[in-house]
Amino acid sequence: MSTVFAVVNQKGGVGKTTTTVSLGTALAMRRQRVLVIDADPQANATTALGQRQGEGGGLYESMVDERSLDATVVPTAVPGLSLVPTTTQLAGAEVELVSIMAREFRMKRILDPLRERFGVILIDCPPSLGLLTVNALAAADEVIIPVQCEYLALEGLGHLAETIRLVQANLNPRLRIRGIVLTMFDTRTNLARQVEEEVRQHFANTFRAVIPRSVRLSEAPSHGAPIQLYDPQSTGAQAYDQLADELLAQLQHAGPAVAHG
Ligand code: ATP
Ligand code: MG
Repeated sequence: MSTVFAVVNQKGGVGKTTTTVSLGTALAMRRQRVLVIDADPQANATTALGQRQGEGGGLYESMVDERSLDATVVPTAVPGLSLVPTTTQLAGAEVELVSIMAREFRMKRILDPLRERFGVILIDCPPSLGLLTVNALAAADEVIIPVQCEYLALEGLGHLAETIRLVQANLNPRLRIRGIVLTMFDTRTNLARQVEEEVRQHFANTFRAVIPRSVRLSEAPSHGAPIQLYDPQSTGAQAYDQLADELLAQLQHAGPAVAHG
């Protein structure tokens, strides 16, 4: 049994990639077989995991040519954590897929065969609700939404919820929102606390684990290492460890994934 999570928010810089990489690492350290799929042409997850942009091909080539993803999976420095890297060419996929039949299911078709090999698959989505994100939502079982604890945090979440509803209605009826992850929480400000309160009021399925704003988290990608390897004692590493524990507990108890908060 595998679970595929799309890590989605069309807002840029809210912590999607950091959450994908850090949560994926924490889950791998908890004996899960984890695959991170870099579905963003910016290739931030690829570089954050210390990999070069897929020289042996990546998600783009597989999606456009409908080639097996198997050959593109590479190991990372974290035991149990593998990666499907991306290339900046992936940006072209949004255009090239437009004329293809069943274009929303390209990712699902090449990803489903990998479910046998991995317990958890995390898809790092780009900051848009374009065809790549729709493909990820069609391929996923559940959605994880990082929300930055800043002014206007909730802005755009209505649009995102509407997109998820459309995908549920037309492409993937079983898609569920697993939860909201509060990111970049600044303990020193009242604003962060207000945002947390507001988000929790709107979305009952907000994770209890809150990711603090942490310089170490922002440094880790430039070292090509997830936070758990770069600075395992940091507050950021500990917060993502808590998130992983919380998620695993929910999955093990088959906790209901709430469709909307
Ligand atoms: P994009 O929309 O461009 O894909 P994203 O949603 O994936 O962005 P990240 O790349 O994870 O967001 O984070 C944006 C920036 O903020 C990065 O420089 C990252 O290192 C930094 N960052 C992420 N989370 C934290 C945190 N908790 N504390 C401090 N910096 C953070
Ligand atoms: Mg990103």
